Amino acid sequence: MKKQLLPVFVYSENYNLDMGPHVFPAIKFGVLHERLRSDRRFRKHDFVEPVKATRSEVENVHSSDYVSDLLELKHSSRLLRSELPLTSEIVEAFFWACGGTLLAAREALRVGRAMNLGGGFHHAFRNQAEGFCYLNDVAVAIRTLIREDRIARALIIDLDVHQGNGTARIFRFDRRCYTFSMHEENNYPQKKERSNLDVPLPTAITDEEYLRLLEQSLEKIAQSYEPDLIFYLAGVDVYRLDRLGGLSLSREGIAQRDKMVARFMPEVPLVTVLAGGYAVNDMDTVDLHLQTCEAMADLL
Ligand SMILES: [Zn+2]
Repeated sequence: MKKQLLPVFVYSENYNLDMGPHVFPAIKFGVLHERLRSDRRFRKHDFVEPVKATRSEVENVHSSDYVSDLLELKHSSRLLRSELPLTSEIVEAFFWACGGTLLAAREALRVGRAMNLGGGFHHAFRNQAEGFCYLNDVAVAIRTLIREDRIARALIIDLDVHQGNGTARIFRFDRRCYTFSMHEENNYPQKKERSNLDVPLPTAITDEEYLRLLEQSLEKIAQSYEPDLIFYLAGVDVYRLDRLGGLSLSREGIAQRDKMVARFMPEVPLVTVLAGGYAVNDMDTVDLHLQTCEAMADLL
């Protein structure tokens, strides 16, 4: 049973990777954290700082060769599909994100709900970078907790507009993790992987139909899987004014989505991570992530 419903928030200044002009709005982490800290409604909540994930934690998922490429800043074939610069600051930020998601998972197991104000890098594969993702923080947290015998089974609810292809592949033959991805069909990545449950969405889908499909999918999962821990990738690139997403969800529709996930399987601890968000206006992205925080704190 959940002991309380005040989620713990995990944040580190080291998430704020400086990428110069890039579609990835790296400033969102710091701005979101400041907004939460100055918001009276979140005063009672715990804000905790992670430590950086260790190499051995990261290697619970990623190959040692690949991790060496990253740490030595080697532009090997494993990094060809990355769309990020390769600098030690950026690589370090991914180790921090992994540490953050792992800490959020530990906090969720302790108090019921926790949220990493970062993370959700679901395009990273075991042996390969892709998109804006070097290390798959959610997979690292799951494999680490399984190795420590803290959990036996995890469920991933990935509602970012892009398919969680790296995660799907990592857990493809691993029954200790159920992967669910609901994403825009005609969008990145071009080649989709197979999740346990994929719900490809038509471009321009609106709130009502989206929420109906989500509800159906969650019911289906509840009938077939009993997780010890749930990870929610709450990407807000489903927003109608997103630069990289083609769906037509409103702010209110996204709030309903977040609430639906927050209330799903109430007896199972829930870890939320930010994942994507590339609204035309960066502050819309921050507002939408803040809305997810409100949903997790039952303030919506
Ligand atoms: Zn995305």
